[in-house]
Amino acid sequence: MGKQQKNAISPTRAEDYPEWYQQVIKASDMAERSPVRGCMVIKPWGYTLWENIVAHMDGMFKATGVKNAYFPLFIPVSFLEKEAEHVEGFAKECAVVTHHRLEQGDGGKLIPGGPLTEPLVVRPTSETIIGDSFSKWVSSYRDLPLLINQWANVVRWEMRTRIFLRTSEFLWQEGHTAHATNAEAIERTGMMLEVYARMVEDYLAMPVIKGRKTAAERFPGAVDTLCIEAMMQDRKALQAGTSHFLGQNFAKASNIRFQTENETEEFAWTTSWGTSTRMIGGMIMTHADDDGVIMPPRVAPAHVVLLPIFRTPEDRRQVMDYVQKLAAALREITYCHRPVVVEIDDRDIGGARGWDWIKKGIPLRVEIGPRDMAQDSVFVGRRDHAHRDKKAMPREAFVAEVTAILDDIQNNLFQRALLVREENTRQVDNRKDFYAWFTPKNMEKPEIHGGFALSHWCGDRACEATIKEDLNVTIRCIPLDASAESGQCICCGKPSERRVVFAKAY
Ligand code: AMP
Ligand code: ZN
Repeated sequence: MGKQQKNAISPTRAEDYPEWYQQVIKASDMAERSPVRGCMVIKPWGYTLWENIVAHMDGMFKATGVKNAYFPLFIPVSFLEKEAEHVEGFAKECAVVTHHRLEQGDGGKLIPGGPLTEPLVVRPTSETIIGDSFSKWVSSYRDLPLLINQWANVVRWEMRTRIFLRTSEFLWQEGHTAHATNAEAIERTGMMLEVYARMVEDYLAMPVIKGRKTAAERFPGAVDTLCIEAMMQDRKALQAGTSHFLGQNFAKASNIRFQTENETEEFAWTTSWGTSTRMIGGMIMTHADDDGVIMPPRVAPAHVVLLPIFRTPEDRRQVMDYVQKLAAALREITYCHRPVVVEIDDRDIGGARGWDWIKKGIPLRVEIGPRDMAQDSVFVGRRDHAHRDKKAMPREAFVAEVTAILDDIQNNLFQRALLVREENTRQVDNRKDFYAWFTPKNMEKPEIHGGFALSHWCGDRACEATIKEDLNVTIRCIPLDASAESGQCICCGKPSERRVVFAKAY
């Protein structure tokens, strides 16, 4: 890249945030658009990140007694019809399979033939088909609780898509549990939200607010929807995970009944909870800067890249030998339950090589030339620091401290994101200030939105709708830890008992 150009990504966040996001992903080589509208191809650098997220999360689920299973991609339309709210919520986004073969039409064109007697829906979520299995698996209270998770792809025909954040097909996990009591199902709903909060905060280094959705924002068919909400760098909110208490709604729809200890028959109480590849989009929007992605070390596809520097073939042989030994020493070390992952990049492409890794967001870049080698030292650049701010370190010290450095980067990223959220969150107590806070012309940059407003809300759906209509601002959640405080609704002025989080959202 040219000397005068200051940043690797153009446009910058301040210039055009949505375009910056697309360019960051392109430059990192994590994923790309596919020929199919709204779908994506996840490339190895992005997919390895997903595998790391999956590995950590899967372990957390299993630690709570959950087991994995797999259910069909196709759901008979009649299954979806069983829960009225559910079908209403998802019908418009369903991809439907109506035929089972292709035939040669005029001019050799392939056209669908062989209509199905009952159309099949490509799963947008699996409550109904898993419910059908549960109804067969459960007959007595002794069969409960059922604690099942599936890692899968789902399809929701989204009108407006954005890579990772909202795609028509996405990868996710969906947990589905059935319980003998109301209380136990409610407890599970909260427990899984806590797992999500731990995953997103401790691994993706994204601070979240745990809360409850309002009735208007609830999952179709749920009694209660809990969620975690994060703030992106344009100050918009991103819902990063949801956990639903479904009451007996889906048990009734799917006929999940069991015999109680007293030999009465009851419907089970169920929950479902999901997180998706959206988390990757959130992670990028939280940490990436005008030079590209920044990977939190605990989930990074690789931790360290070794960049040998040499001029002559003789240099090359010696430096590569030294680099191989260093890589072997680093790979012996365990960081966050896996061996330190080391890449060696000996491409002879000049300065572009270092920039490639900066754009990919690898936590540590280590340059090694004949002079460093002679002193048994390495030259280390951290992705959470300014790029010219590189530091020489004795090789041995680097090996000894590498896990501490990675943890330090992980902490820095979290603290930095927390600061952004705190600086852009405020209590707003009157309607005029509220409208001003969320009106772009009052902000320096049109791409940048007003952040989180902690404001009072009376609980009335009409007030929520007015604010959405006027400002495109929604209630992201009613924080679980919101303490009771009397105030006046930001919209109608009627009494309110607690503040909720208002924001523009992805
Ligand atoms: P839901 O089943 O609607 O509660 O969603 C479960 C999880 O999937 C949530 O974490 C959502 O943020 C995420 N999600 C929903 N729709 C999409 C989409 N189109 N693309 C990516 N993630 C999504
Ligand atoms: Zn009100």
